[in-house]
Amino acid sequence: MFPFSYTKAADLDAALDAGRRGGRYIAGGTTLVDLMRETVERPGTVVDISALPLREITTTPRGGVRIGALVSMSDAAADRALRARFPVVTEALELSASPQLRNMASIGGNIMQRTRCTYFRDVSAACNKRRPGSGCAARDGVNRTHAILGTSEHCVATHPSDVAVAFAALDASVRLLGPDGEREVAFGDFLLRPGNAPDREQALKPGELITAVEIPAHPQPSRSGYLKVRDRQSYEFALTSAAVALHITGGVIRGAKVAAGGVGTVPWKLSTVEQHLVGKRPSDRLWSEAAARAADGAQPLTHNEFKVELLKRTVERQLRVVGGTR
Ligand code: SF4
Repeated sequence: MFPFSYTKAADLDAALDAGRRGGRYIAGGTTLVDLMRETVERPGTVVDISALPLREITTTPRGGVRIGALVSMSDAAADRALRARFPVVTEALELSASPQLRNMASIGGNIMQRTRCTYFRDVSAACNKRRPGSGCAARDGVNRTHAILGTSEHCVATHPSDVAVAFAALDASVRLLGPDGEREVAFGDFLLRPGNAPDREQALKPGELITAVEIPAHPQPSRSGYLKVRDRQSYEFALTSAAVALHITGGVIRGAKVAAGGVGTVPWKLSTVEQHLVGKRPSDRLWSEAAARAADGAQPLTHNEFKVELLKRTVERQLRVVGGTR
């Protein structure tokens, strides 16, 4: 470990003040403390925000759901109203991490969590995300779990969150508070692809704090669910995953929301899959045709070519489950 300062913010103003002075926010600490122990991250000051009033799940005036940034993953998973309206969110949470981690980790921290690329966590390895300009050991290294979509020559790491995939599918937004006031960012714009700067992972301005994630109202009836494919059935990150929500009336799909995890440098919205579904009648053939588009644009690496087919099958299976033709 290394020396650092710790301060606990009593209210939002105190948190923002400390953030403005370069403090690093910490809530459950389930990612940051590990990274500090491994000296991957070396903040001079950590600002404990766990006492801030951001622990509510409420209905928004527009009929959506707002999840406070400090709601724990386990409390969000246990929320009956959230489960009734967006089971895809609940299922993604329940398939994440371990019960102990879900009790500590917050929703805001979950979407901010950093990649599980082993080279990122090994301070002796080349890693542009940890040390810009040093190279990417994963490109020619062991890259079985890495991304096939949204990569750049500088980084091929996946975003590890499950619930972020559900948020991306549902077109959620992130509420932010900073020195310049409040703002809202579409979820699809909040997490950044690596491009030329893989060390910049979120569209946050200096000192900004996540206050909530907001899921807009979706037409009812809506069916949704999350499928996660991994090497073992507990405490493991996704090789592939699919978040699916369908609005079907009169035997026709009126709305489709689909995103994939474990395959992209960010949660991967599958717009072409969605477009193929809308206006059509559910059928096994339709699921197959739509899922065939899931890996469009994929650029597999030496060890993860298998993800291309696995992704299509994951999406097809979850479309069938949610669409009711299984
Ligand atoms: Fe670092 Fe990204 Fe390369 Fe992993 S994939 S070693 S995180 S630059």
